[in-house]
Amino acid sequence: GRNFRPEGTKITFPNGVVVGGKEVVIMAGPCSVESREQILDSAKKVAAAGAKFLRGGAYKPRSSPYSFQGMGVEGLKLLREVADETGLLVITEVMEISQIEVMLPYIDVFQIGARNMQNFNLLRELGHVRKPCLLKRGISATIEEVLLSAEYILSGGNYDLMLCERGIRTYETATRNTMDISAIPVLKKLTHLPVLGDPSHGVGIRDLVPPMALASVAAGADGLLMEMHPNPDKAMSDGAQSMYPEQLEKLVAQLRQLAPVV
Ligand code: PEP
Ligand code: MN
Repeated sequence: GRNFRPEGTKITFPNGVVVGGKEVVIMAGPCSVESREQILDSAKKVAAAGAKFLRGGAYKPRSSPYSFQGMGVEGLKLLREVADETGLLVITEVMEISQIEVMLPYIDVFQIGARNMQNFNLLRELGHVRKPCLLKRGISATIEEVLLSAEYILSGGNYDLMLCERGIRTYETATRNTMDISAIPVLKKLTHLPVLGDPSHGVGIRDLVPPMALASVAAGADGLLMEMHPNPDKAMSDGAQSMYPEQLEKLVAQLRQLAPVV
């Protein structure tokens, strides 16, 4: 609850970046790590846009078992290498307990995907690591379910936790998911945790990402997790919702009109 820390949880990273502080933190990059060239190019564009975190999945939860499943540990190594080269931090998804140990040396934030929001064994284990986590809202999860999942991590003693609204499944088909902007102020009111918006998965259509990113920040988000690909038309996953690098750069400038951004 908010009362535990009325001033809110601040997560400070080794390079001094703070999530939950005065500045809105941008985490951007492709849906998946695809190659050294692709992720290096992405990292350069993310850094040039002024963001501080590089995102990119090495373990991918794909709806079809025949779709690209991610590069695994090779992807983790590439993320670390290019992030160090460009001065960025790394956020990437953990899908199962056995990956935690493997990931620890390479990453700065464990992303728990929507599909694993109720993988309680995984959550419990992440409560015992001393590395920040970002918990995404499940595809059909209520706010109460998000809070109880967060509790699995917090009750293990890991307080470096961020929550993320990434759209929920509704009857609407005009967008991939329905971005529940109201979840942001609701979670900010009920918890002491930083709350981020992921408008990329929230709407699934790249041109709708900037307006929903702005809406997320206007609603009080502490940060944004967004997909950007140097060549989205060739992306191996989520190309349609991945911004062009120029779109990200323009968006960051617009966000700066609303709040200080890093
Ligand atoms: C992702 O961030 O690429 C992802 C798979 O997100 P989600 O878990 O929200 O679907
Ligand atoms: Mn994705």
